[in-house]
This record gives sequence, C-alpha cells and structure tokens, in this order.
Amino acid sequence: MTRILIIEDEKAIRMALEDDFLAEGYEVDSANTGTAGLKKGLEPIYDIILLDIMLPEMDGFEVLKELRKRNVRTPIIMLTAKSQEIDKILGLEFGADDYITKPFSPRELQARVKAVLRRVNEKPEISSESQFLFGDITVDFQKYECLKAGEIIQLTTLEFDLLKFLINHKGVVVSRDRIMDEVWGKEVFVAPRTVDTHILNLRKKIEDNPAQAKWIISVRGRGYKFLSS
Ligand code: CA
Repeated sequence: MTRILIIEDEKAIRMALEDDFLAEGYEVDSANTGTAGLKKGLEPIYDIILLDIMLPEMDGFEVLKELRKRNVRTPIIMLTAKSQEIDKILGLEFGADDYITKPFSPRELQARVKAVLRRVNEKPEISSESQFLFGDITVDFQKYECLKAGEIIQLTTLEFDLLKFLINHKGVVVSRDRIMDEVWGKEVFVAPRTVDTHILNLRKKIEDNPAQAKWIISVRGRGYKFLSS
C-alpha cells in the first residue's frame, strides 16, 4: 500500500485531499502545520509527501530543506498557491520532486503523484522480452543471447547477467560492491578482483578493442560504467 503524507493547513483542502487519496486506495496521514509535518515527514514510512508552502510555524520551503538536510529522500510534491513560488521551488538546492499550482483538480494531482512514484520506483530494468542495441551489438534479454555484427557471442550466464546489470544502470557508475551484491548476490562471497576478471572477459567478447573499452569503462577508484549509445 502506498503511504502518503499531506501537509496542508487549510482544512477544506486537506480533507478533500485525504478523501481523494483514501478513495484511490492510499494510506493517508496528514499534518496541519509545518512543524507537525516535519515531525511526521522524518519518519521513514511514507512513499510520498504533499507539502503546502504557506504553512503556520514553518513554511513548506523550510520543511523541505530540513527534511533533505536530514537525509529524508521521500519524494515531495509542493503545493503552491502563487506562480512566483515556482521559481523558488525550481531553484531549491535540495529540490522537490514536483510541484502543482493551486487550484488543481484531484485528477491532475493523482496523475502527478503517480508519475513521481513511478519515476522514483522505476528500476531501470529492461523488460525481459526487449532487446538492447549498442554499436553493432544486440542483447536479447528474453533469448539470453548476445550478437555482435550478427554473430552470436558466447557469454556465460554470469557474463550475461553482468552485462544486463551494467546496461540496466547505463550512464551510472556502479561500484564493485554493488555489482557483487546484485549480480552474484549478497549471500555469495566473491573478491572484488573477481568482478574485474569478469569485466575483462566481457570486454574481450564485446569490445572492438578491449584495451580501449568503449562501452564498459573503468572509473578509477569507483567502479564501472556502461556508456549509453
Ligand atoms: Ca496553506
């Protein structure tokens, strides 16, 4: 169940929002001041927070700043009544995930909430039936097949999983630890060196010039990165 925290001081709006989200099957909690909202927001139990800006005691900007300062990464949608607040939202260093201008329709807000949740929860997992293409290589995740210039490359299951993991995290540096946890599994003990060995093998199979990798690049001291085409 999705838990939503609504921080809004105007009773009519707050109650309407509570009803809307309850009707949509959310678990709803709310606060009517900035301080109460901050206190609740600090609890790591919410999937999303709706945060009004004009609030008593502490305004929405301060609440947002404080939450982010304390490492709360819960997605936050700001509710704003004034268009001049939007620039401020966009300019925030620890930004909100989205904002919506009052008056808004419940439907619009629902859509925004869903979009933010989708974005946050979206694992860059590629659908198992899809193919991924880069350079002259085609990876078929369903057939567990990898082709280079039309020729099948023999990859071990582990190499395939490793490649899939890298592709799913393309453009992002992934550490050896993370690769070990996610490809080998947390229960399996492998030396970081093992990751390097498999990366080397994988490069030999897919890179034109393994010594000058174009796709799976090393990021010194940090890990590896798959460059997206
Ligand atoms: Ca308000």
